[in-house]
Amino acid sequence: MELKTTHIPHELKQTVPPGFRLEQRGEFEYLIVESIFCKHGHNLLVDSVKIHGEPSIKLHITIGEQTGTVFVDAFWGSHAKLYSFLPAHFADTTVVEAFCPVCGESLMESYQCQQPDCDSDRGIILYLPGSENKVHVCARLDCPGHHLDIVDVPEEVVDTISAINYFGIGAFEIFGD
Ligand SMILES: [Zn+2]
Ligand SMILES: [Zn+2]
Repeated sequence: MELKTTHIPHELKQTVPPGFRLEQRGEFEYLIVESIFCKHGHNLLVDSVKIHGEPSIKLHITIGEQTGTVFVDAFWGSHAKLYSFLPAHFADTTVVEAFCPVCGESLMESYQCQQPDCDSDRGIILYLPGSENKVHVCARLDCPGHHLDIVDVPEEVVDTISAINYFGIGAFEIFGD
């Protein structure tokens, strides 16, 4: 699985938002999530499963009748995920329910997805360092919808990060066991 490379704009290099870091890999730079929490402050990054050599973001999830764990790549814009179960095939409109793996708190919120062709009203909320900084992800499988709330960072930079790609539950690329 190769990492997709994305041009990191100059203004972003000067203002890396809280919870992210820039890392050089070979000739390319990547934006990596390094701190992300449930609302009770539990760190969702785990060392036990690494993707692309970095700690992954662990979530407990329910999809339809199935319950298990998913590990999401911390590289911003990567869609790589490892599942603790083999997800059955679901309709595109299937919604993922996500929970903190430490306290079991629901990570769900009401969310109006702005993606064309998606009318989902359910989202997954994740907290970046600083009480006002959040990532909202559309809970519908395969929808790239997401929204970033980051204060104290210029809006252009937030827009740039948002455009780099999405951080979401999305498609099934890799199956764990
Ligand atoms: Zn928690
Ligand atoms: Zn959506």
